[in-house]
Amino acid sequence: VEYYLGNIERQQHLNAFLEVWADEARAQAEAVDAKLAAGTAGPLAGMVVGLKDVLAYAGHSLQSSSRMLDGFKSLFTGTAVQRLLDADAILIGRQNCDEFAMGGSNETSYFGPARNAADPSRVPGGSSGGSAVAVQADMCLASIGSDTGGSVRQPAAFCGVVGFKPTYSRISRYGLVAFASSFDQIGPITRSVQDAALLLEIMAGPDGMDSTASQREVPKYSEQLTPAAHYRIGYIADAIDNEGLNPEIKDAMATQLDLLRDQGHLVEAVEFPYLDFMIPTYYILTTAEASSNLGRFDGVKYGYRAPDATDLESLYKKSRAQGFGAEVQRRILLGTFVLSANYYDAYYTKAQRVRRLIKDKTDELLRQYDFLVLPTTPTTAFKIGEKQDPVSMYLADIFTVQASLAGVPAISVPVGEDAAGLPIGLQVMAGAFREAELLAFANVLT
Ligand code: GLN
Repeated sequence: VEYYLGNIERQQHLNAFLEVWADEARAQAEAVDAKLAAGTAGPLAGMVVGLKDVLAYAGHSLQSSSRMLDGFKSLFTGTAVQRLLDADAILIGRQNCDEFAMGGSNETSYFGPARNAADPSRVPGGSSGGSAVAVQADMCLASIGSDTGGSVRQPAAFCGVVGFKPTYSRISRYGLVAFASSFDQIGPITRSVQDAALLLEIMAGPDGMDSTASQREVPKYSEQLTPAAHYRIGYIADAIDNEGLNPEIKDAMATQLDLLRDQGHLVEAVEFPYLDFMIPTYYILTTAEASSNLGRFDGVKYGYRAPDATDLESLYKKSRAQGFGAEVQRRILLGTFVLSANYYDAYYTKAQRVRRLIKDKTDELLRQYDFLVLPTTPTTAFKIGEKQDPVSMYLADIFTVQASLAGVPAISVPVGEDAAGLPIGLQVMAGAFREAELLAFANVLT
């Protein structure tokens, strides 16, 4: 704990933590020491973990990096976090992220951007940017983030660490601030695939507090990391021939695919006809869900309340106008537009149908192949302030939203660096609930 506290203290310029629970972490460490001496310590004893600022932890501030939740403290602890505590993990602090997890660079945070430790003039990715930097710069051993359309995988790729989004519903969402409920999943950011497996096995499983959480039994992922000798691997040809793909990432992909062929795996190009529809579908559906989920922040129930309201209507309006940042407001407006009576069928219903096509095709490919391999991101970490246009930011999610639309598990593992020393991530998707196979395979890639 002292080691990580020292690293946090020395690297405050990276803006990874919004709050550090130093005294509590020390006390937890002492309690774990006592349990170790008594032989009663849990499986995560000694693992120092940071939490993205979207996870509820009783008595602790929770604000999704938003002014809207200024001063708000959670009254309860979410399921995943409680399971970490029960396994004797030590929680070291709350991590910076994009406001309400909306973004891909950590720049929408009310607390300013976190910075990439490989080059602090660049973004760490987002929305779980602070969580990825914290692992990259050794400020904790693991972080817990959330992934709606890539927010665990993309920052992991930009920061050279492992980011893992499990199957939708594998981990309870109880105590996770909702962004787009049919996409949101909690996921670990770690240095090794082994640690991702261990954290998944602790956090996953049925939960009476989230009726959407899967009832399926949780395998001992961390004990099943031996890969099979022969896999069928597909890669989406159009994704790799994409003009927007940075040539160094393309080379890294090709090298990996050759390596897999040399190891005796079947590696084949596959057709995926819906690449162009992925971003529009994702942004229509997630903004719709977000506009509904964020309706609860009205200046009355939680956090920030505008000081100068004259009646109830103006209290709502002013609190929301002052409490939410520009990106969150943009998404609420987009979401209410696509859900409005005159446009519902043209946008929302249509997008639901396209989501079904994307899901069915992805599931079909993942029955034909054990895994689909693709880049995590089209570029390496970009400069802070470089992407001013929201659409260019959205387009950067092209490779991560497929797994989110289909609800299947996906992992990003580091596979090298570009000429400037910026990390490159490789992404692997597997069929729903095939985390054990996915982790075993990812383990040999790192
Ligand atoms: N960048 C994506 C977005 O802005 C993903 C965010 C996320 O996964 N939370 O919606």
